[in-house]
Amino acid sequence: MLFNKVLRASVRSGIRLQSSNAAAASVAAPHGGHAASQGFSFEMSEQQKEFQQLARKFAREEIVPAAPAYDRSGEYPVPLITKAWELGLMNGHIPQEYGGMGLSSFENCLITEELAYGCTGVQTAIEANSLGAMPIILAGNDAQKKKYLGRLVDEPLMCAYCVTEPGAGSDVAGIKTKAVKVGDEYVVNGQKMWITNGGKANWYFLLARTNPDPKCPAGKAFTGFILDADTPGVMVGRKELNMGQRCSDTRGITFEDVRIPKENVLIAEGSGFKIAMGAFDSTRPPVAAGATGLAQRALDEATNYSLERKTFGKVIAEHQAVSFLLAEMAMKVELARMAYQRSAWEVDQGRRNTYYASIAKAFAGDIANQVATDAVQVFGGNGFNSDYPVEKLMRDAKIYQIYEGTAQIQRLIIAREHFGRHKK
Ligand SMILES: Cc1cc2nc3c(=O)[nH]c(=O)nc-3n(C[C@H](O)[C@H](O)[C@H](O)COP(=O)(O)OP(=O)(O)OC[C@H]3O[C@@H](n4cnc5c(N)ncnc54)[C@H](O)[C@@H]3O)c2cc1C
Repeated sequence: MLFNKVLRASVRSGIRLQSSNAAAASVAAPHGGHAASQGFSFEMSEQQKEFQQLARKFAREEIVPAAPAYDRSGEYPVPLITKAWELGLMNGHIPQEYGGMGLSSFENCLITEELAYGCTGVQTAIEANSLGAMPIILAGNDAQKKKYLGRLVDEPLMCAYCVTEPGAGSDVAGIKTKAVKVGDEYVVNGQKMWITNGGKANWYFLLARTNPDPKCPAGKAFTGFILDADTPGVMVGRKELNMGQRCSDTRGITFEDVRIPKENVLIAEGSGFKIAMGAFDSTRPPVAAGATGLAQRALDEATNYSLERKTFGKVIAEHQAVSFLLAEMAMKVELARMAYQRSAWEVDQGRRNTYYASIAKAFAGDIANQVATDAVQVFGGNGFNSDYPVEKLMRDAKIYQIYEGTAQIQRLIIAREHFGRHKK
């Protein structure tokens, strides 16, 4: 009886851990039959395996071969994004009642890891849609969701999350873009910076200050808006030339007397800061999944190379220093994967996952950098050259320690959450 209860609970959960008695039994076996009663398993459902396989096939057959050229040209990967949209590998987080697939965070993360394995420039462009849409999913009313999420379902359109400014990134409460209510509209003036999909988005989530009083607390001073990108006064800057993820579109955007109807306010005036920050609990797990996908790719490339390259009469994999390096890389990839899966699973349980999301994001971001750097080391001189795949991985990895909250900001959050838990 207990077994069935646990099984049903697992099926209801995002992971849907044990899809059959056979699966449960096979997982239980190594622990003498106790796993089922513990209600814990790493087994994925058949549907989850299918999503993973679909994304893996697409990434390996279509993204991997195209990625070097996109990296060189910096061109926005429209054909790959369109194909991902057609295959249902984009916008999986949009609820079914608005035409989306309503996938769990866990399932979306599985897809994200696979896309990132192919190219994190492509993955970031796709993932920025989740970031842009998340405030609407979490805080939009029915009409807003129908209109703006519906567009993403109907066509392969992009959206973007417009929060960072030239003068304020980590310190979100320091943003200066202001919105002033005039009749039934808000008039927006200011400037945003580093906006992914900035030049490609059909609409933006925009955070602006609505209370000019500097003493007003952040939780009441800002408002979140949905803004159509073709609104007069929206001026998109040049595409920034970044170190990595070069095909992703990053831009500054200036707003000059941009008029937004009051219907496009999320929740109510003053609610914006919590909406903008709250979205990260849902979007950091997929960022961590992306970093894990990159790290897995670096590990695979380094492993393949180590089994081919010979020095001193044997393949370098047979030198213990190299095989231990690969073992360290494997340990990090496995642990990053567990961290993002845990943080996504917490979202799917409907629990506040701030602690796990920041741990996953910080850890996976760091190990992506370490593993990509080690992959370059395994390749020797070839690793430093753009004819081989790993130098791109090393460049691409860096941003995972910067966007969606830097490595330092994640540690601030983890420490705060840790002390809060400790007090309890
Ligand atoms: C390619 C790219 C894409 C991006 N996409 C988006 C997007 O789509 N939408 C969006 O809104 N933003 C986006 N960003 C912005 C990104 O989130 C910010 O760059 C990031 O949050 C850091 O802010 P900052 O650049 O202002 O650095 P700063 O906040 O100035 O930080 C500088 C350094 O100081 C450290 N630091 C700051 N404060 C503290 C502190 N209190 N304690 C310890 N260390 C601290 C930081 O960790 C960092 O190392 C993107 C950025 C890039 C580069």
